[in-house]
Amino acid sequence: MNALTQIRNEIDQLDQQLIELFAQRLALVKKVGEVKHKHGLPIYVPEREADMLAARREEAEKMGVPADLIEDVLRRLMRESYTSENHFGFKTVNPDIKKIVVVGGTGKLGGLFARFLRSSGYQVEILGRKDWQSADQILANSDVVIVCVPIVNTLETIERLKPYLTPNMLLTDLTSVKRQPLEKMLEVHSGAVVGLHPMFGPDIASMAKQVVVRCDGRFPERYQWLIDQIAMWGAKIYQVDAAEHDHSMTYIQALRHFSTFANGLHLSKQPVKLANLLALSSPIYRLELAMIGRLFAQDGGLYADIIMDKPENLAVIESLKQSYEESLKFFETGDKQGFIDAFEKVHQWFGDYSELFMKESRQLLQQANDLR
Ligand code: NAD
Repeated sequence: MNALTQIRNEIDQLDQQLIELFAQRLALVKKVGEVKHKHGLPIYVPEREADMLAARREEAEKMGVPADLIEDVLRRLMRESYTSENHFGFKTVNPDIKKIVVVGGTGKLGGLFARFLRSSGYQVEILGRKDWQSADQILANSDVVIVCVPIVNTLETIERLKPYLTPNMLLTDLTSVKRQPLEKMLEVHSGAVVGLHPMFGPDIASMAKQVVVRCDGRFPERYQWLIDQIAMWGAKIYQVDAAEHDHSMTYIQALRHFSTFANGLHLSKQPVKLANLLALSSPIYRLELAMIGRLFAQDGGLYADIIMDKPENLAVIESLKQSYEESLKFFETGDKQGFIDAFEKVHQWFGDYSELFMKESRQLLQQANDLR
């Protein structure tokens, strides 16, 4: 016991040193944040991150420390750094912009963008649902109007903005669907137009590594500064045609949200207690339950709008029902070989991604298990 106590004391001391080293590292990162803010450098630089990780992995291996362990620790530290770099604010990419109005800035996502814009030195005003009687005043002399209202209200809101828009203004939106809002913006406004879709929810701590979709409308040279500003916040900008975006969203959003909802609905009707399932769960079951459960901590209206956005969504969802029936048939008829053949076909379809996903999910599962 004495020997164990002595070793544990040594470990405690080393942990103390680790904390001190972390504090020193975070202090250095703070200085980096200050320098980046001063010179308007992006908070996330993929090459620097990749080079640094590769070098640390090599050094760790030489000392007999597993490279993956060091990468895990450093990635967690870097995530902390990206978040703390937000506190310094960001350089104003376009100082000529005097005023930005966020229509629906009272809400979650609009509020997030208003905060990031303000922390980049812009004057931001909010036009909420109840502010239309003062719309004249709020929108007067604005250089940018960002629409971020619920999907069902987006087209009518853009229409409603028409009398207040002047040709020098930039009109943009953050809606989760892109084709119709973009068409409507181009219809009501003769000036610069761009459609944006942040591929993340309003609960992110940092925009580093998040994706923002960009669907070009008109006069891209007049809004490149906004794209650069968002990139400076750390986001990756992905340019795509609006119709292609909406087609992909059928799968990325509508189909996924539908099946998550249906899973939650189904489970809620079963004679089981969630606490009992969790007590017996493997890490992967816990993660899967978490992915279902987190949907119900969010806004049902938003998900309904996403699923109901276009007939194509329902057609794909309908075909999901067929796939369920097809899958069930294998078991109703005891067709084990049929199931295995279908399994192999899907494996072929995933190709090399199968192995990649196996590797990626292993890391996630280990993390989920650490948290137990
Ligand atoms: P939200 O309900 O939190 O916010 C919407 C806000 O718009 C509310 O404050 C509401 O009062 C206001 N509003 C409604 N009608 C208005 C009108 N006519 N004029 C002015 N304000 C009006 O919703 P949210 O989650 O912030 O989503 C807003 C938009 O962002 C949606 O188009 C959604 O597709 C998009 N979006 C949301 C997420 C997300 O995860 N929340 C992610 C990407 C994109």
